[in-house]
Amino acid sequence: VTDWQGKHVTVAGLGVSGVPAAKVLHGLGAKVTVVNDGDDARAREQAEDLRELGVTVRLGDGATLPEGTELIVTAPGWKPDKPLFTAAAAAGVPVWGDVELAWRLRGPDAAPWLCVTGTNGKTTTTQMLASILKAAGLRTAAVGNIGVSLLDAVLGEERYDVLAVELSSYQLHWAPSLRAHSAAVLNLAPDHLDWHGSMEAYAKDKGRVYEGNRVACVYNLADPATEDLVREADVEEGCRAVGFTLGAPGPSQLGVVDGILVDRAFVENRQKNAQELAEVSDVNPPAPHNIANALAAAALARAFGVPAKAVRDGLRAFTPDAHRIAHVADLDGVAYVDDSKATNTHAAEASLAAYESIVWIAGGLAKGATFDELVTKSAKRLRGVVLLGADRALIGEALARHAPEVPVVDLDRTDTGAMLAAVQEARRLAAEGDTVLLAPACASMDMFVNYNQRGDAFAQAVRELGA
Ligand code: ADP
Repeated sequence: VTDWQGKHVTVAGLGVSGVPAAKVLHGLGAKVTVVNDGDDARAREQAEDLRELGVTVRLGDGATLPEGTELIVTAPGWKPDKPLFTAAAAAGVPVWGDVELAWRLRGPDAAPWLCVTGTNGKTTTTQMLASILKAAGLRTAAVGNIGVSLLDAVLGEERYDVLAVELSSYQLHWAPSLRAHSAAVLNLAPDHLDWHGSMEAYAKDKGRVYEGNRVACVYNLADPATEDLVREADVEEGCRAVGFTLGAPGPSQLGVVDGILVDRAFVENRQKNAQELAEVSDVNPPAPHNIANALAAAALARAFGVPAKAVRDGLRAFTPDAHRIAHVADLDGVAYVDDSKATNTHAAEASLAAYESIVWIAGGLAKGATFDELVTKSAKRLRGVVLLGADRALIGEALARHAPEVPVVDLDRTDTGAMLAAVQEARRLAAEGDTVLLAPACASMDMFVNYNQRGDAFAQAVRELGA
């Protein structure tokens, strides 16, 4: 689409993506109607703003396709089986997400995109990537599902040499024509299956990130499903499949040798078959899953031609966001670690794998997950477990089945004050050298506003314990 003048565009959903999309499209001369399911105070305020500009807004009716719609631009979270989309399909109306809109408006011309997706580690990896690109002196930003929105990044004043783009599976679902410079799928585990409909559909949407890649498709050797997605993707001629591994790398791979991150895919010196990038201790924190994130970020940066030294400098300069394996305090030789962001079993498995002897604080909203695999894989590291939150019984039952010898304290509480009790119980179970780890494997909304508040409650409880 190049001529927006008078084009009937329906924007589905107000909020962080809908409002800017409506404004941009209106500015281009399109005839914009915003439809929104909700009709609360916040929605009314946003609607008021848009109406002043001359945008039509329908609150409390996100189901009906407005007469004359030629294109829908949807918020990424809207489920594909919504009546609005059924109606659009019947009428032959295309549906774009916020990423598709940014891509079509100016994506390829603004800067090359280095894209990151996966079930866990997206934010961390994207931020590591941006840090590495900055260390190389490139003008860049972490954008997409974090930080700056893609619309702002491609249409704003700021000029970029390259973008570090985090993409969710929802965003990818609605971005059929995106073509990245290079992309990585970090891992694939069941998540958001109610939205996508099945594991196959979820994987397929993640795999879209590889479609049309020009330089490299980066995959995880420990997760063969990611390599399958590379194989199925239709890429530009000359685009390479580049694997990363925590073991020694083969040709066209990045990996680890004797505590050194090593690149055997993008080697500048033809005399050598490997390039040393950084030390494992340059990665913060140096937990196995995070070294994997660093390798994926390094692979994307190297695909863009970044020198080895910038990888090291960028990794050293990186500090993780709050509530991601954050060390809170040491009390009586016991470390207290906040990984409140471990909101699913795959993430919790990664953080439990990072410690030897753990008192695990877990529970919350399970989102339909099962815990048998997580408990089986982690049982030998568990000194004890403290359970809280709405779905704690699911974890308790898995523990009873697979780790009956591990002491479990079931707090039987879902009030906010339960976190202090949980930390007190954990302290009782812990011995010197242990780690008390909040890695709930569940969402937080049964007890807290979000995972930030849950992590803050944990840190606060630890401080009270130490006082
Ligand atoms: P996302 O943006 O995909 O949610 P984050 O970088 O915010 O990912 O990390 C979320 C949580 O996932 C972390 O707190 C950690 O528990 C876990 N995690 C991070 N990286 C990985 C990884 N590579 N594999 C498995 N789990 C991970």
